[in-house]
Amino acid sequence: MPVPAPIAPTHPDRVAGIDLGLTDLATIAYSDGTREKIAAPKHYRAAERKLARAQKKLSRAQRGSKNREKLRVEVARIHARTANLRRDHARQLISRLIRENQTISLETLRVSAMVRGRYGKSITDAGWSQFVTELEAKAATHGRTVVRADRFFPSTRLCAICNTKSGPSSTDVRQWTCTCGIHLDRDYNAATNLLVLALAPGKVERLNACGRDIRLRLAGAVSNEAGTRRNEVTS
Ligand SMILES: [Zn+2]
Repeated sequence: MPVPAPIAPTHPDRVAGIDLGLTDLATIAYSDGTREKIAAPKHYRAAERKLARAQKKLSRAQRGSKNREKLRVEVARIHARTANLRRDHARQLISRLIRENQTISLETLRVSAMVRGRYGKSITDAGWSQFVTELEAKAATHGRTVVRADRFFPSTRLCAICNTKSGPSSTDVRQWTCTCGIHLDRDYNAATNLLVLALAPGKVERLNACGRDIRLRLAGAVSNEAGTRRNEVTS
């Protein structure tokens, strides 16, 4: 069977640092100084809420009852549908990442962290490993590079501006102020750290030479207008 010809990225040499999340599907910092948050589509969030309601009902149903069995089937059905929606959305995002970038950098999840909460939902857990597997397969086909941070790399706790490990360990904190005085957006800061990690040494210098401003903007340290907010992966 003929192998599809690799397609060159629309932004040659561009590196994307991605923080995968729960509220936003992905937060991305690019080496060209742009950034974006990609929200999960509305219909996916609606399905998630429906699933949560059904699970709650099931947990209250009497053990061994006919009603419980009915609810169990219902939960399984909604669970499968929700997982499918998430998978479709993830595939669209993967296609776009491959189409636009040469290098894609992301964290490596620790299971303990997943259990603790941020990735506590089973769909998200399964979605994560599937996302990485599919991204790596597609990257191999098109000659892109996927960089995985070391599993202990503190992408969310490290300040992208001064490199101090001053960030929150709690997952609820969306914004924080580093000891260096810079106020940061949790997800943009994490994405920026992952971006910097994947930059070739010369590129890091170039990013630094362009001034602190780029890093500040990428890490969400300045007002929102400085960043780009696209949401092309909606269906
Ligand atoms: Zn700092």
